Amino acid sequence: MTEDQVYALLYLAAGTVGLVVAGLVWRVHRRWPAPRYLAFALAASSVWALGSLSSVLVADANRSAVVTVTVFPSVAMSVGAFLCMLSAVADRSWRPGLGMRRALVAHPAVMLLLGATNDLHHLVLAPSGTGDGYRFALLFWVHTAYSYGLVVVGVTRVVRARRHAPALRDAQLTIMLAAGCVPGLTVAAQIGYMVAAERVVNDLSPVAFLIAGLIDAHAVLRRGTLKVLPIARAQVLDHLGDVVVVRDDSGQVIDLNLAARRLLERLGAPPDREDGAPPDLGPLAELVRAGSGEHLLDTADGPRVLDVRSTPLTDPGGRSVGTVLVARDVTVEVTRRVELAHANDALREHVEIIEQLRAEVAEQAVRDAMTGLHNRRHLDGALADLAVDLGAGAEPASVIMLDADHFKQVNDEHGHAVGDRLLAEIARVMADTVRPGETVARYGGEEFVVVLPATGAQEAWRRAEELRRRCARVEVPVRGGGRLGVTVSAGVTTSDQGRTSASALLDAADAALYEAKRQGRARTCASPAGTPVTLLARPRARA
Ligand code: GH3
Ligand code: MG
Ligand code: MG
Repeated sequence: MTEDQVYALLYLAAGTVGLVVAGLVWRVHRRWPAPRYLAFALAASSVWALGSLSSVLVADANRSAVVTVTVFPSVAMSVGAFLCMLSAVADRSWRPGLGMRRALVAHPAVMLLLGATNDLHHLVLAPSGTGDGYRFALLFWVHTAYSYGLVVVGVTRVVRARRHAPALRDAQLTIMLAAGCVPGLTVAAQIGYMVAAERVVNDLSPVAFLIAGLIDAHAVLRRGTLKVLPIARAQVLDHLGDVVVVRDDSGQVIDLNLAARRLLERLGAPPDREDGAPPDLGPLAELVRAGSGEHLLDTADGPRVLDVRSTPLTDPGGRSVGTVLVARDVTVEVTRRVELAHANDALREHVEIIEQLRAEVAEQAVRDAMTGLHNRRHLDGALADLAVDLGAGAEPASVIMLDADHFKQVNDEHGHAVGDRLLAEIARVMADTVRPGETVARYGGEEFVVVLPATGAQEAWRRAEELRRRCARVEVPVRGGGRLGVTVSAGVTTSDQGRTSASALLDAADAALYEAKRQGRARTCASPAGTPVTLLARPRARA
């Protein structure tokens, strides 16, 4: 194999590999600037290598225009793209400015012009005097110096960025620095060889640039920030206190974070199987199946409540690819919630009891202890309300005042206790006789008042008689086996007779009662006079 054939193979291999890798990088990573420039650099270097391949294959000493047209601009594009890639790696926010963009376009354009014109390209590569090759003319050295200048600028930016770079980026930048040195060292070695061997050999620069590009591809794609994200995500998930379980569409567990593994260990079901099969969820499986909600779990540390959220995972096309399940231990919160609910219930009960007691006390305040009837205070309130209603034009109302006849004798003859019992029984009969909306109160001693709203004189008189008769029928046992009752006198008045105020109604009823007593007791009198009168009856002891 001749030396040219070796070179030809090398150029072919480098150009092919370069194009393939450039295509891959472009297809997968073109969203990020550095890989995008890298794809350009690899593609340009590949064209350069393939152009150099033609230069080896073309025997013509003057070199065909095809070769110069491909090689010259591709060299310029290659170094320009390398500079952009190194700049973008050194500073992620870097974008070429206007001057830079002009220079990046002008350089390959000039080289294309030089390559396309036979006369001008001899300013770069001139036919050698001996006729078996070419020699480097002035513009070749100018262009070489400019190109390596660009590479040096890029490398310098990476060196600067490396100074304060964290470990992961430091490793990436170091690899890229080493890659940046490859073309320079190759050219230096080649020149050294040419000087020592005193002969011109084919240019290895495109191969060196492609090697640098492949190393850069490794650094950018495998060791760069593209790698950081998944690592960071994995570490963030592991630092979460929440349990995270990722399942694929078939329901198979494909990832568990550290909290999930620890929980499974606490549940006595280590997730990792020896045969490398997908993790086993053990007791968590049921919970995962149940989906979102609060679930109770028995662990070695006692029962725990997990708040589970299940979220579907979709690919960019919106297709379902699995589920991510996040479970948070909310035992403390739930315990507090339950305690709070109990405390609230207890408080509510207490408030109810207090309210009951308050109502009882309020009721007692308006009740008479001995008879259980309403007392004078309540009567005053009821009469005041009645007066307001009457003032507002309500129907006429009536008031009855009742008094036990000769009650003093009861006490005197049978004792106070018998008197008390008789009064209590009379009170009970009165309470049973009045209707809803009516008021019966113990006015004092053995006197009672009944308020009848919306009741005219005639009906009031009838009700007074009814009350009086019923009370008169009340009897209590007395010592010696007999039974005792008393007659009752009643005075009744009605508001349509010109009395509407509470005191006026009471006064009138009292006057009527006085009249009933005066007429001989055991009867009803109305105020003013003119209403029927019952016969007088003295209290009697019945055997
Ligand atoms: P009159 O027919 O004129 O009403 O005669 P009276 O004896 O009933 O009237 P008086 O006002 O002279 O006496 C009322 C009596 O009622 C005096 C008192 O001992 C009795 N009395 C008042 N309150 C009670 C009570 O709560 N229990 C008992 N046992 N007696 C009472
Ligand atoms: Mg009396
Ligand atoms: Mg009295």
